[in-house]
Order: sequence, then C-alpha cells, then structure tokens
Amino acid sequence: MTVNELKEIVIQGGRLKEVESEWLATQPDKEALYEAAHEITQALASEEFDMCSIINAKSGKCPENCKWCAQSAHYQTQADVYDLVSKEECLRQAQYNEDQGIARFSLVTSGRKPSSKQMEKLCESARHMRKHSSIQLCASLGLLNEKEMHALHESGVTRYHCNLETAPSHFSSLCSTHTQEDKIDTLKAARKVGMDICSGGIIGMGESMKQRIEFALTLRELDVQSIPINLLSPIPGTPLEKQEPLSEEEVLTTIALFRFINPTAFLRFAGGRSQLSKDAVKKALYIGINSAIVGDLLTTLGSKVSEDKALIEEAGYRFSDSLFDRKHLWHPYTSTTNPLPVYKVKQAEGATITLESGQTLIEGMSSWWCAIHGYNHPVLNQAVEEQLSKMSHVMFGGLTHDPAIELGQLLLPLVPPTMQKIFYADSGSVAVEVALKMAVQYGYGKGKEKKNNFVTIHSGYHGDTWNAMSVCDPETGMHALFGSALPVRYFVPSPRSRYGGAWNPEDIIPLKTLIETHHEELAALILEPIVQGAGGMWFYHPQYLREAARLCKEYHLLLIFDEIATGFGRTGKLFAWEHAEVVPDIMCIGKALTGGYMTLSAVLATNEVADTISNHSPGAFMHGPTFMGNPLACAVACASIKLLTSPEYDWQGKVNRLSQQLEEELAPARQLSSVNDVRVLGAIGVIETKEPVDMAWMQQRFVEEGIWVRPFGKLVYLMPPFIIEPEQLTKLTSGLIKIIKEI
Ligand code: PMP
Repeated sequence: MTVNELKEIVIQGGRLKEVESEWLATQPDKEALYEAAHEITQALASEEFDMCSIINAKSGKCPENCKWCAQSAHYQTQADVYDLVSKEECLRQAQYNEDQGIARFSLVTSGRKPSSKQMEKLCESARHMRKHSSIQLCASLGLLNEKEMHALHESGVTRYHCNLETAPSHFSSLCSTHTQEDKIDTLKAARKVGMDICSGGIIGMGESMKQRIEFALTLRELDVQSIPINLLSPIPGTPLEKQEPLSEEEVLTTIALFRFINPTAFLRFAGGRSQLSKDAVKKALYIGINSAIVGDLLTTLGSKVSEDKALIEEAGYRFSDSLFDRKHLWHPYTSTTNPLPVYKVKQAEGATITLESGQTLIEGMSSWWCAIHGYNHPVLNQAVEEQLSKMSHVMFGGLTHDPAIELGQLLLPLVPPTMQKIFYADSGSVAVEVALKMAVQYGYGKGKEKKNNFVTIHSGYHGDTWNAMSVCDPETGMHALFGSALPVRYFVPSPRSRYGGAWNPEDIIPLKTLIETHHEELAALILEPIVQGAGGMWFYHPQYLREAARLCKEYHLLLIFDEIATGFGRTGKLFAWEHAEVVPDIMCIGKALTGGYMTLSAVLATNEVADTISNHSPGAFMHGPTFMGNPLACAVACASIKLLTSPEYDWQGKVNRLSQQLEEELAPARQLSSVNDVRVLGAIGVIETKEPVDMAWMQQRFVEEGIWVRPFGKLVYLMPPFIIEPEQLTKLTSGLIKIIKEI
C-alpha cells in the first residue's frame, strides 16, 4: 500500500477503509499526504469556492451542557445573551452578505430548539429574507422534528445544519444532555422534507486521530456534502478552557484525511481558523478546504471577506458568477429555489461544447435539435456578419428585404408544391399559434364560424404558448396543470403501429369516429408527422397520415403538419411528410431553419387557405409580430439551407451514416434490464427506459463522461449535429449505454 495507490483508488471512485485511513495518518511524509489529498480535491471536489455566512439570531442561555460551548448556561462565560433578533436585522445582514457574493446565509440560534412561538418568528424572518433577497437560506436551530423542518422548508430554507461535532465514540464524554442519535434524527428529518444537510464539527477537543477518522467516516455514511470544520477555541469558563491547541500538522493531516474519506464534499473552514498561521491556512486550502463560513459581521472569525477572498483566489479557486445565474436566472422547466445545476459554456465549436471548467463535451442534442451544422460554422458566421453590416432588423409591415425574399425562394422548392404562401414568425410555438389562427380564420372565411376547434393525438408536443399548449398531450405533457385554463381540444390515442412495422388498421378508428361525430366544430387536425418529439419520441406508421388526410378531406378539416422538430433532414427525409407523400394544408417549420443560429420559424400555407382568409372580411390575416421576417435570422437561414442542400454537404449521406451507426451502437441497450425499447429513425436514436430517469443525476454523469445529453421522463435520446464525426458519435452512444447500465 502506498499513499499514491490509495489516492488512485479514491479518484477512481473507491471508498477508503478505516484501516487504510489510519495507515495514512501514520505516514511520516506529510507533504506526500497533502499532495495526494490536493490531487483528489482537484479531481473530484468543486473548484468553485463556496462561501456562506451566518447570523446568530439568538445567543446564550442554552440548557445543554456541551463542554466546548460559550452559549451553555451550565458554564460562566462572557457570551452575549439576547433573544431572537428582528426579521429586519436578519434581512439587513442577509443583504450585506449577498452584496459580497456570498452564496448562503444561515439563521443560527442557541438552545436545544426554539419554542413554537420562536419557530414562527424564525419562519417569518426566512420568508421576509426570501421576499427581499435571493441569498440561499440555511438554518441551524437545534434538534427539530419533521413537522418543524417542513415549516422551515416551506418558508424558504433549503439547507439544514446540525453538527455531529465529533466522533461517536467521543461525543458522550463531551455532552450528556443529548446524544448524537438525536442529531442524526434531526438531519434525517431535514432530508425527508427535501432539504440539503450540512454537518461537521470541532477538532481539538481531546479526541485522537483515530477518532477523527471515525468522525469523517460517520459523515460519509450519512452522505454529508457540506462539512464545517472548526478548530476548538477554548472558551474561558468552559470545561475545555485549558485544552491544548492542535499542532498545525495535526490540523492539516486531519483535513487531508477528511478529503480522502469525503472526496466530493465541501470541506468548510469555520471557527478557530484565525489560530493558524497564514501559511497553514494556505496549505489547508491547497489540501482540500473548498468552502468557508465568512463574514465581516462575524467578529469571532477574525478576518474580512475581502481578505479571505484574496487568499482563496491565490490558492487557485474560483468564485463563480454562476451564483448570479442560480440566484436570478430562470432556466427552462426548473425551480428557482432549488434549481437543477447548470453548466456554464465558454465556447462551442463543431459538435463540441466547451465548459468554463475547460471540459469539452460531445454534443448529442444539437441544442434542442436545431444546431444541425454544429457550432461556430464559418459559412453561417459569415452570413450573419455580412447581414449585420447592412441591417439587423427592419419592420416587415410596409417594408421588405432581400433575406426574406431569398429565404422564400429557397424554401418553396423544398416543401410540397401546394405550399405557396409563407408567413414568417419568431419561434416554433408562435408558428403553431399562427397555424391554428389561420385554420380558424379560414373557417370564418368559408362562412363556417362554428369550425373553430381542433383535434390531435395524444403524446404530441407543439410548444409552450397558450394555444400550442392546448394541443399538447393534456395528461402526460408538461402543461397538465394549466388544463382548466386552456381551451378544450379533442384528443385521440396516438397510433401504436410503429414506423417500419406492420400497419394495424384499428389505429385510425378513434380519429375516424371523432371526426365523424365532431367535424362541424373542427377547424383542423394538427400532427407532428411520423415523429412525436418532446411528447414521447415515438415514430409511427406513415399509413396513419394517409388515412388521416383522407378523413380531413372528406369532413372539411384542414391538415396542419408541425414539422418544427422533424424538418431539415432529421428523420432521413428533408421533411417528414415525404415518408407518407401526404401534403398538409398548413405546415410549421422552425428550429433547424437557421441552423440553430437564431430564433425564426415559418408557417407555410396553400393558396386555398391564404386566399380564403384574404378574400373575406377583414381582408387580412390578423397577426403581425414585431420581429416578423427579421433580416439577420432570414440571412442565416438562407446560408443554412444553401449549405444543407449543396451537393458537397450530402445531408442524405450524412444522416444515413448517422442512422446506421446509431442503430448498430445503441442495439446492445436492448439487452439491458432497465430498458424498454430502443428505436432509431434518421439521425434520432432513442433509448426508452422502464422507469423515469433522475435527470439531475444522469445529466451530471453524462457530463462526467464528456457528453451532452439531456434526458426527460423515460427517454434518453440522441439528436446529434449532422456534421458529428463517427468517433464522436461512438463516445455519445457508449456513454449513454454506460450510464444507463448504472441505473
Ligand atoms: N413544435 C414542436 C414539434 C416542437 O418540437 C417544438 C419545440 N420542442 C415546438 C413546436 C416549439 O418550438 P419553440 O420552442 O421554438 O417555441
């Protein structure tokens, strides 16, 4: 056994045994131990330094007899004694700390636990701080039960602190009024209601190194990821007042061992660090301290935030401005109080995304399916630059321009020949709104005002705006909670006949029955042709589209194809309608229209639709967004389409190759017990799991594997850029299978 061997075991994900930790502690070459711990910190712990601060919201008069504590009423100390501070004072201190870039702020009270009245007041303070600041809130209020934790969590506190203080074998010699089990119960109650936990303790209270190891292992068992480490400050009047301080070597060795045992945790410098020399503090940061309790308002710490920051930066840590992001920026489909992690991107190039940390990820999502040519493409860059020097935007009301005209000229030969009119819109969702409005206005033009509702199939997804939401799957979709506020549409089951499988004629019966019954009130049928995307990544039989089109014709419904996700080659055809040779009356395109450079969509319609709308009062289609036909977006869309359709690009060859590789390399996933189905169409590869996946965990594991994949529900899928290299795609497929195996 060598120090380096043990270090490697930890870096590879192994867990140190007690005997191994004890052996490490006895090694005479301390520098080698520190160096190894440093390497573990670099490999596994956060290099973003985490600062938190606290307010002593109630001080003194504690009935507990912890031998180290100035607050205990059992001993005669000089500690301040005061009752709960006001919510205004809590907020003042929270805001002061927030302004200094401190991530978390904790309400700390002395005593076994607050009375119910005090709890109410503390919850009120928490709510007050949540209302007027965005600092994340922690609390340390003693031994609370689940109900009290729940109230605290509801008030906005997201992390609970309760120190185990020392090794289980040492605790009872330091305190007899409560046990360490009481503390563990408290931490478990916090976890149960959904809070993070923070727990560490004090070293230098007469414990042995063996007991410190026992302490670190206990914290590991509880999976504590925030571990405050205090050095005892002997308080005059307490039983530990004469305790000899630890040597700096003992302190540093302890930190190194804590890092070996808790490799990913935040080891948090807390009280007593002013006893150390500046060199020892620097060394502690080097070895593994990557967080601290700081604060200008905490005089006991003996250092200013600005001084602490300078020292920390000197040690090579960063202070993240992603903190601002976490505190203020709303990301899609996530919480603001407990947001899923976000990764900061420095640059993106080809099929790779480089994070601020320097790590490069292979792109498996094409940024939600739009960046088909990858990133930073010279042709697209040039198109933007050229257009920028002419004009980035002019209104489309009463004006027109070359990029809009050229884009139309490029689009018409690619879409069904019956699509003759083009309405430019701002995003996919808005295109769907426009298409639905067109269908209603068409009915109006035909003198059939009653034809103003829609039918669609389950598991569809058409966007996040109001009417787009109304045609997304009402139960399994992301908008179920808006149900009662949305217009009520007709839904039928989505076809079960798979793409490439046998056609089951029964699939069409529910739609047939519904249209037969309700056609007089139906303006249109809206569908994602062949591939249902965000609603389920399901590929269905083209015969469904043929039968559906026939029904629409027979009963005078318009047929709307939402090709926002399927367009521009993704499914192996340039547009998905080609799989069935069925042409719609209205067609929405977006996403890859600009090669993913800018937001732009278009709604294409037949002359019949456009003329009917236009030849009847009010004589115009009633929609006109500010950024309609934005020249910059149109210019880059022109460049993207020219690139895609140029013979040298050979999009069809590219997509066929991707399809074949996805098929071959994802096939082994069919054998996995956690996998329900594997399906590939064009440049889309889907693994459907049996149970919904834990997105936060999986995303983190994918990033660790060097790939960018964002699963949802039971769907782990790839939609890589068309220009991805075979080796890059292999990295994606093998990473996917590896992580799914870990489920
Ligand atoms: N329709 C479909 C089929 C889509 O996949 C999406 C986006 N995932 C949208 C509409 C909405 O597009 P956007 O997010 O650009 O509004």
